[in-house]
Amino acid sequence: MLNLVLFGPPGAGKGTQSEKLIRRYDLVHLSTGDLLRSQIAAGTELGLRAKQLMDQGLLVPDEVVIGMIDCKLRENQQAAGFIFDGFPRTVPQSEALDSLLVEYNTQITTMVALVVEDEELIRRLLKRGETSGRPDDQDEVTARRRVSVYNRETIPVADYYNQQGKYIAIGGIGEIDMIFETICQQIEAVATKKA
Ligand code: ADP
Repeated sequence: MLNLVLFGPPGAGKGTQSEKLIRRYDLVHLSTGDLLRSQIAAGTELGLRAKQLMDQGLLVPDEVVIGMIDCKLRENQQAAGFIFDGFPRTVPQSEALDSLLVEYNTQITTMVALVVEDEELIRRLLKRGETSGRPDDQDEVTARRRVSVYNRETIPVADYYNQQGKYIAIGGIGEIDMIFETICQQIEAVATKKA
């Protein structure tokens, strides 16, 4: 299996690159942000509770997102692999993911981290807010809070995979297709080494 963690701050381009990776490698896309937004759209109790935190740019509790991922892994046992997008976002989430994958006799192949500087992220989030309709993209205070939550709570996830020798950093500024090809080259280098 090819199991990728696509990592990076809000606005780094994870969603865009995920779509391309899914098509090239036939992976199942697991985006906790998308899963949470569909709970909100469906008006579930989980969605209502998550929305209050998401709209402020704060993280939802670990057990909520871990539960959603557990459920999706169970539903997709025949998959050729997974792309985890926006998850794990904390070290406890990373540990939980590793344990879940062991249950399915698999593991993370590699993390691909998209690197973009903070001010560019703020610009991108506010620009996306013009069309996305996402409450958390609308104002600069929330955009900055999301970037600082990332720097404080999520960056340690990169160290977690780095310690396992599973960390690849790729510049996330430039042409979308160029970034995509760089990601693919790096993934294939890792996959060949493991094979
Ligand atoms: P972006 O990549 O632009 O930040 P996401 O769609 O990944 O957007 O996430 C939007 C919001 O959903 C986050 O700010 C957070 O509130 C919540 N969220 C998504 N994934 C997680 C997660 N793994 N752990 C905690 N909260 C999450």
